[in-house]
Amino acid sequence: MKGIGVSAGIGIGKILLVEEHSVEYTPKQVEDAVAEKSRFRNSVEQFCNNTRVQAEALRKSAGDKEAEIMLGHISIVNDPFLLGEVEKLIDAGQCAESSFDSMCEMFISIFSAAEDDLTKQRATDVRDVRTGVLSILLGIKEVKLSDVPEGTVICVKELTPSMIAEIKKENIAGILTETGSTTSHSAILARVMEIPAVMSVPDIMTSAENGSVVILDGSKGTVIISPDEAQIADYTEKREKLLREIRELQKYRGKPTVSADGTEYELVCNIGKPDDAAKALEFDGEGVGLFRTEFLFMDKTSVPSEDEQFAEYKKAAMILGSRPLIIRTLDIGGDKDIPYLGLAKEENPFMGFRAIRYCLKNRDLFRIQLRAILRASAFGNISIMFPLITCVEEVREGKALVEQLKAELTEQGIEFDRNIKVGIMTETAAAGIIADLLARESDFFSIGTNDLTGYTMAADRGNSDVSYLYSALQPAVLRMIRSIITAARNNNIPVGMCGEAAADPLMIPLLISFGLTEFSVSAPSILRVRKCISDWTKEKADEITDKVMSLATESEVREYLSSVIVA
Ligand code: PEP
Ligand code: MG
Repeated sequence: MKGIGVSAGIGIGKILLVEEHSVEYTPKQVEDAVAEKSRFRNSVEQFCNNTRVQAEALRKSAGDKEAEIMLGHISIVNDPFLLGEVEKLIDAGQCAESSFDSMCEMFISIFSAAEDDLTKQRATDVRDVRTGVLSILLGIKEVKLSDVPEGTVICVKELTPSMIAEIKKENIAGILTETGSTTSHSAILARVMEIPAVMSVPDIMTSAENGSVVILDGSKGTVIISPDEAQIADYTEKREKLLREIRELQKYRGKPTVSADGTEYELVCNIGKPDDAAKALEFDGEGVGLFRTEFLFMDKTSVPSEDEQFAEYKKAAMILGSRPLIIRTLDIGGDKDIPYLGLAKEENPFMGFRAIRYCLKNRDLFRIQLRAILRASAFGNISIMFPLITCVEEVREGKALVEQLKAELTEQGIEFDRNIKVGIMTETAAAGIIADLLARESDFFSIGTNDLTGYTMAADRGNSDVSYLYSALQPAVLRMIRSIITAARNNNIPVGMCGEAAADPLMIPLLISFGLTEFSVSAPSILRVRKCISDWTKEKADEITDKVMSLATESEVREYLSSVIVA
């Protein structure tokens, strides 16, 4: 079978099918209301016990606040009004499932209709409680990803970041999914955790069986279910070879990132939480080229306060010391939802009210984040980066707000870096086309090829039907990248790349030739990218790039590059 290889490595293990959690039931009339009420009470008690265990686990892995959220579910289920009404419905002859379900639905619709975000969030909590109690009543066993045995290959329709968060990586030999692609956030997390993964494998949930042996190749995207002895031996050898290569890359550890003719490059990491800054250094990154701050917002139940955000940004800055830390302002919308912000459902979310557009219209939220970043800038080498820029006004408005907040902080006697740089992500077709105009207004560019590829090719990054178009090696995308880098160089501003293409060995000579100055990649890719850069002189990279830019199709580009580059 074939899917999209999203996280390199070879996995050999036994399949565990993780079914979607369905809590469907057929409503029944009950005769013995006393027995039904006791069945209901027992389920509530079991739910509370389970929740206490989860809360304790969360206290250890995440912290006290996260544990409190779980404990709040116990208060919801023990609400005297809720319990009383459920029992009345049971007395009237309804089964426990439909009695509890209809009361939860009532609460959910009341909370969802509320104006304030905090009350709206209560609807999400009631939904969780509803699923938990109904699962117990229906005897549905949830698969616990944290408890799976060593050598498990998780097979799931759609992988969510929260599933990944539950995983113990030493037990997981690989991940297979029916949806998703290289740039989905779960894929990015799989790479960070170094778990081989293949996504968008058609019908994998129906073709695979629990307990069958499977081999997956996370680079090529191949999946072999029930392999024969020879295949197992072959792939075990390949896996050993790969592990050997990883060991060999260690000689690039602690070395500067230089090309074969001595040009130095900045090689930094993409991170999602302050603690990842430590991971960036552990993998020998030279700083952080992209801190995706939306993850800080996703983990909470309401907008984190200025002080909370300040503490997180300061933490990352302190870990990195004088090394660069580029903090990207909130990039929500598209595939990244934050339930408590109550974003409206849109026909076309990737082209909708998101990222910088949302922040400029929600000034209170934007001010809090920018003030927190500015305050943290007193503790390290921080830059601010705006996502999804499409026109000059957005840069001007964002920068004007930064200036206003700087004046405010000065007046309040609060320290910050007065020379803080403000740059932009160039990740839309519009930004590519007006890169010359944007370069005059920005302190730096960072090319987000994940989105730039999608917006240039008009191909959704998560849609497997159009994945043949979604490639940064498409001639259209290569021209975009070249013109962005040229515009930055003409204006003497640094230009980096933080999209996944920055770590692609086929792309690296082209980026060297175009004149990229900074590569920002996932932590585990650092040493491999440093090695790739060291393989090239500008002259050789130019020669290859001239040829590539004369080719007309993605497959010609890929074929040619694959023939001259042994990755
Ligand atoms: C990008 O679009 O390339 C990028 C780095 O941002 P994200 O993947 O977070 O959208
Ligand atoms: Mg992006």
